[in-house]
Formats: sequence, C-alpha cells, structure tokens
Amino acid sequence: MLVIRCWPDPVLRRVCAPVGGQDVSKLAADMLATMYAAPGRGLAAPQVGEAIRLFVMDVAWKDGAPEPWVFVDPEVVGVSDEVATREEGCLSIPGIVAGVTRPARVTVRWTGPDGRAREEAFDGFAAACVQHEMDHLDGIVTFDRVDATTRARLLAEYAP
Ligand code: ZN
Repeated sequence: MLVIRCWPDPVLRRVCAPVGGQDVSKLAADMLATMYAAPGRGLAAPQVGEAIRLFVMDVAWKDGAPEPWVFVDPEVVGVSDEVATREEGCLSIPGIVAGVTRPARVTVRWTGPDGRAREEAFDGFAAACVQHEMDHLDGIVTFDRVDATTRARLLAEYAP
C-alpha cells in the first residue's frame, strides 16, 4: 500500500513529467490497491509522491463490479460547452467536499497500461473524475477550482 500525500504537501503543486516509455504497471497496480483501500474512485501519481503523468480511476466499484482504468500521459482532446457542477472530494484533502463546475463531457486520449493508444469520451461522474485527476497532474487541487470566498471557508475548515 502506498502513502497518500495530503494537502499542503508540495508534491501536490508539481507539474508532473511525462511517463514516456517507462513501465509503470507495478506503480499503477499499487495505486489501484491504495485507491480501493482509501476508499476512493480516483488517484493520481503525485498523490502518492510520484510527479509523473499517471492516474487510476474506477467509478463503478462502489456500486458493482470493479472497472479499473489506468491513464498514462492523458490529454484532453475535446470538451463540451455544457457544464455541470458536482460535489468533489479528494483523497489528499480529507474531509473537504466542494461544488466544482467543469465541462459536462470530456474526450481524453492516453496510453493504456498495455502501451496502446486509447481515446474515450466520458460524461457524468466519470467526466468530473477524469478532469479532477488530470488537474492533479498540473499541480491543481480542488481549492483552485472554487471562488475566493469558498476557498477561504474550506481552508479554514480543513484540518488534516
Ligand atoms: Zn484529488
């Protein structure tokens, strides 16, 4: 099991480096195990102290069979004009939930754990989760996605 870094750990502010051709299958498997144990539905590499462009996600397992996804070097290639606001939590900011407004649908291109290129469109909760995790790869956290008043209130509430 990996240790989940909590805000304000500086690794959460890093702009992560591309994975490129490195084999990250062991790290991805450990990240999935850590995410399930937390329990959570998404976990990005900087959250476990690795500043590389990798995240894992499973938006199905809390309601049924697990559907683990591993995203290596993901890129957003399209977003909807329509937006949606959802309550987002973060394993690195325990106890804090905030309404975040993002594009309702997002199309992402990435490399799968098998090294093959993939592209998929996500909507609903998965769209929010993918965008939340991709934010982590650029050093962006939930506090950056809310207005100044809300941020001040959440930071005052935050007691890791
Ligand atoms: Zn997070």
